[in-house]
Amino acid sequence: MKSVLKSDLDNPPQLREFGLQFQKRLNLLCCLACGICLTSRTGISHVKFHLRGLKLRVKKSHLIKICEELGVHNVYPSITDLSGTEALSGLKLYTKALLCPEDHCNAIFASGGAMRHHYRHTHGGKVPDQWTVVPAQKLDKNRNVQYFRVQPPPPAPEPTLNSSWLDDLEADIARINEGYKKEEER
Ligand SMILES: [Zn+2]
Ligand SMILES: [Zn+2]
Repeated sequence: MKSVLKSDLDNPPQLREFGLQFQKRLNLLCCLACGICLTSRTGISHVKFHLRGLKLRVKKSHLIKICEELGVHNVYPSITDLSGTEALSGLKLYTKALLCPEDHCNAIFASGGAMRHHYRHTHGGKVPDQWTVVPAQKLDKNRNVQYFRVQPPPPAPEPTLNSSWLDDLEADIARINEGYKKEEER
């Protein structure tokens, strides 16, 4: 489900201890496990969310410094700017999102129920029984965050490439979890 372009996703060593990646096109942090992007402001609370239950101190000032070095933005870009761009690596890709047919609306939803609700409350009148299907992404899983339309991603990469990337990712996650466990045991 996740976009696997990888070329716009960086894995700088400074971010490894936080389990985060760097989305180069957006200059945002990325949590691959959740398929979302994070700003320099929301990054630390997200890392804490993953570590909840573990008695582990997260170095907030350390992450802030890294964000400054990498030039991570402190706000999300506007949806209007993102609309129509190539699919972004690290974000979940919704291949069958629904586009509102009304002129200048551009609202996109992942389910028919949400789209019908939008249409009824925003436009009124007879609700269409068919929608245009488009590929879309959103920056966060938060319900208030809007979907934006993206260009269909290129054909899936060679299985070997894909699996090696996933292997790397799994190894990374295992290593990070191992690190946390060790911290905890101390
Ligand atoms: Zn996450
Ligand atoms: Zn609409």
